[in-house]
Amino acid sequence: MGMVVKCTFCGTSEVVYVRRYSGETLCRRCFLENMVERVKATISKYELLNPFDRIAVAVSGGKDSLSLLKILVRIERDFPRASLVAITVDEGIPLYRDEAVENAVRFISELGVEHRVVSFKELYGFTLTEVVESNVSRSLNLQPCTICGILRRRALTVAAKECGASVIATAHTLDDIVQTYLMNILRGDTRLTPIGVRREVPGVIPRIAPFRLIPEREIVLYAYFSKIPFQTYTCPYTELSMRDKIRSFLTEYEELFPGTLYTALSSFEKMFARSSQEDGSFCAICGEPTSRKICRACEIIELVSSRIKK
Ligand code: SF4
Ligand code: ZN
Repeated sequence: MGMVVKCTFCGTSEVVYVRRYSGETLCRRCFLENMVERVKATISKYELLNPFDRIAVAVSGGKDSLSLLKILVRIERDFPRASLVAITVDEGIPLYRDEAVENAVRFISELGVEHRVVSFKELYGFTLTEVVESNVSRSLNLQPCTICGILRRRALTVAAKECGASVIATAHTLDDIVQTYLMNILRGDTRLTPIGVRREVPGVIPRIAPFRLIPEREIVLYAYFSKIPFQTYTCPYTELSMRDKIRSFLTEYEELFPGTLYTALSSFEKMFARSSQEDGSFCAICGEPTSRKICRACEIIELVSSRIKK
């Protein structure tokens, strides 16, 4: 009486993935199909998109963002009045980003999607490498990754505005979002707002994360089965960060207790629904929302420019 594991959806015996938190077993084809369905379900559950949106998809060229674009292209077919534009931010990191940008350019043109590449150099007058070498990281007491993230966010906003986007979609996964919530809590940041859920603030392009309910490992598998290129170089500025510690803790915990990530997400979101309060103040220089007088991005840009011009 040999028990053959069958695909929960179609019944074939070529199972490639066991979804431990739900007990489902999936063959390759149903896994790929189901991914699109789950992203669709996430979009409608949180009302992430409107049928007439112009969607700017942040495509770094890594596997997560290429997967997101591929899936959104599929979903967008059902919404003839919506449009997609892919935006790639080039921080100016030798090898690592060069490879990613190449992957992005090739992949996006194969999909036939409009593509805009924007670089730190053209936008700010300096690359991330120059930022790291200017030592502002030390004087602001911020890690290179934090600075990189702030400037990339700004670049994405600028490019999305130029492209006339009504919404920005990023490839943050369930894992990323739970990590960020936990990091904020451990840092004592209590002004938390839900991540990747559409919130309309006047003058601000909302950011959505259609992968917010998809575990990272399933994106990896999706990318692998879809023949999406994986990067061979790693960023030279990655440091062992608090995020890495939290990531490995959460991954280990999820292994032992499948479903933990979902429980964490929903607990955090219940907490934040009560605490989230916009303070409604804007940067004196760029006009983007910030809790400070001058936002972090403007502060960093001024500081790096003054050092580089010397
Ligand atoms: Fe930027 Fe850090 Fe990512 Fe490198 S690892 S691209 S510095 S955020
Ligand atoms: Zn600003």
